[in-house]
Amino acid sequence: MRSLRYTIKSIAILILGLFLLLIPRDASAAVPTKRILVLFPYESNMPGFLNLDNGFRSVLSASKDYQFELYLECMDLTRFPDERYYEKLMDLYHEKYSNPKMDLIVANLRPSLDFLERYGPESLRQVPVILSEQDPRLLGAPLEVPVAAVVTDVLDVEGTLALAMRLHPDVRNVFVVTGASQFDRSLEGMARERFRNFESRVEFHYLSGLPMEELIQRASQLPEHSLLFYMSVFKDGNGKAFKSPDVLALIAEEANAPIYSVAESYIGSGIVGGHVLSHTAHGARVAGVALRILRGEKPGHVESSDGSGIQYVFDARWLKRWGISKEKLPPGSIVRYREFSLWETYRWQILGIAAILFIQAFLISALIVSLRKQRLADRALREAELKYRTVADFTHDWEYWSAPDGRLLYNSPSCERITGYSSRHFMEDPSLFGRILDPEDHAIWEEHVRANPLEHPFRTIQLRIRTPDGSVRWIEHVCRLVTDERGEFLGIRASNRDITDRKNAELEAQQHREALAHVTRTVTIGELATSLAHEINQPLTAILCNAGAAQRFLSANPPDLDEVRKILSDIIQDDKRASEVIQGIRNLVKKEPSRRETVRLNEAVQETLALVRTASPLEETSLVTELDSRQPAVLGDRIQLQQVLLNLVLNAAAAMKDTPQKSRQLVITTVVQDSHSVMVSVRDSGTGIDKDFMDRLFEPFCTKKVDGLGMGLSISRSIIKAHGGTIGARNNPEGGATFYFILPMDI
Ligand code: ADP
Repeated sequence: MRSLRYTIKSIAILILGLFLLLIPRDASAAVPTKRILVLFPYESNMPGFLNLDNGFRSVLSASKDYQFELYLECMDLTRFPDERYYEKLMDLYHEKYSNPKMDLIVANLRPSLDFLERYGPESLRQVPVILSEQDPRLLGAPLEVPVAAVVTDVLDVEGTLALAMRLHPDVRNVFVVTGASQFDRSLEGMARERFRNFESRVEFHYLSGLPMEELIQRASQLPEHSLLFYMSVFKDGNGKAFKSPDVLALIAEEANAPIYSVAESYIGSGIVGGHVLSHTAHGARVAGVALRILRGEKPGHVESSDGSGIQYVFDARWLKRWGISKEKLPPGSIVRYREFSLWETYRWQILGIAAILFIQAFLISALIVSLRKQRLADRALREAELKYRTVADFTHDWEYWSAPDGRLLYNSPSCERITGYSSRHFMEDPSLFGRILDPEDHAIWEEHVRANPLEHPFRTIQLRIRTPDGSVRWIEHVCRLVTDERGEFLGIRASNRDITDRKNAELEAQQHREALAHVTRTVTIGELATSLAHEINQPLTAILCNAGAAQRFLSANPPDLDEVRKILSDIIQDDKRASEVIQGIRNLVKKEPSRRETVRLNEAVQETLALVRTASPLEETSLVTELDSRQPAVLGDRIQLQQVLLNLVLNAAAAMKDTPQKSRQLVITTVVQDSHSVMVSVRDSGTGIDKDFMDRLFEPFCTKKVDGLGMGLSISRSIIKAHGGTIGARNNPEGGATFYFILPMDI
């Protein structure tokens, strides 16, 4: 229970502490407050007085020593010239200002001080007073009661008239305007006194204390070479109170001569200008003196002006109205109400708008240029597209462009001529291409599609397609990858060329070549007929002899069956040999389309030699074979390759016809060159090849023989070429020639 109470107490203290912290501390607590009563004899909102008040307050508010409470009383004494009003007013002031007491009174203009002295309550009489007056000459009669200070400025009546006369050198008459109030009269007095010095140069006319209508009328009918000097009109001749600046404005409207005056507060109400007193500056001076008094000083004397509150000020509108050039104004003159040119008034706005317009114009022109460029680019693009589309559309080949997802982006109309299907068919159904492929070429197509396009950027394959009427057409398909500048895959460009005619021509040529090769072989065999007959005859004779011998052994008693068995075995051997020769000949003369099989070259060489070994051209020729033990094999047509060998061997034999018998040598070699190819060479010791004949050796119908056809080497070359190989010949350094061919190996 105790602890709860303790806690509540602590919280309360805390809250109180916070509360105290939050209360704004009165910063002025340390600064004493001073109360000042400011008296003004006329009504409020008189421009001169308002300016004075501003200057006064601005100095006070800058003071750090005090804070001020200002009380302003515009007593309006002219409009209410009534004893009772005065007494009541002072009663009121007594009520208002006896408690708390004032620290200082500023009596503006002598009438304020006179009024205070005459009617002021006791409570105000004890307060120090500053008398503020515009000009020492307006102070009037000596003061009855001492004041704390008198602050005066200067109404430069002479200076202003001298200025006016400088600006209007032909002026003859000066009309001085003053009202009927005490203040007006005091100003009139001052003017009369001060203008005395000028009376020899101009004539002065005093429009003083006139009724308003008359005043305005007079002002409007001034003789030539006149000017008006406006002092003040707070009351007219009829006793009617006015605001002096208002009267000035009325006169200025009607007057037929320029008006000058001595107070800055009249600038703007109708005067051309003057060497005028700034009430703001005067107010500031009064405040300075007030501060000194409050601090305890006792100036007690007249604080006259240092002239800093007077300056040449003009109204541009009236300068213009009276045709006064600004060049004529004294140096340092201030010209108010200048009618600024549009440029002077709105320079920044104009510059801003101009800048915006410029930027806008720039942007618009940039936009127009870019639009124009874009339009040109679009047109160029359209033209280019039209051009390339026209080219693509009318190309003979079937062109298409497929997107990465397989969709056809473009398909040239020529596909219809080649495939029988319209472009629309392919566009709508990209799988149609696969379906019209010949089943035998599916594997080639699949392999092509699977192959890495980066490794084979341009890929060419030949395919067969089937048209809707069932006919087969050959196309050569070439395609490449399309990428953008960054290597992004954009699809595939393909071109399909109809090569049916070329293919058919090739097939036909091949058939002709085969037929020719067949004929050549047949001719060759025909040439070999004698030696072949001998080759077959030999085993047949042996068979005959062996059969006779067998008969003899069988007729013996007891028959020698062992011998008969041996003889029969010989007969079988001889028969086999004869069959082999016959089979070899049959193979060579058989007309078969070319085939692809693994051909062991060593065997092919042996078989060929078996055919010709005993042939007459090779009689008494040393036949040597140097065959590679690695048993090289190639993929190809066995009979065609044997035909090549046969050609080379028989040519070699022919070349050695005149070679002395002991020197005739034929060497057949097979050598694996590298792991990929094999070379077969036939070297002879014959005549060698004529130098002039070397270049044309493999051309058709080139022969040196009387009975030669000149087709052997030509056919040999086309056979070797069809097998992907090369054929060549050279003369041996030791004499004779070597013919060779190189084929890719079947690994
Ligand atoms: P043909 O044997 O009908 O003349 P080939 O095309 O077989 O036709 O031979 C063309 C020519 O090449 C022969 O006429 C011959 O002059 C020359 N020739 C071929 N082989 C050899 C060789 N081993 N030595 C010298 N010349 C040869």
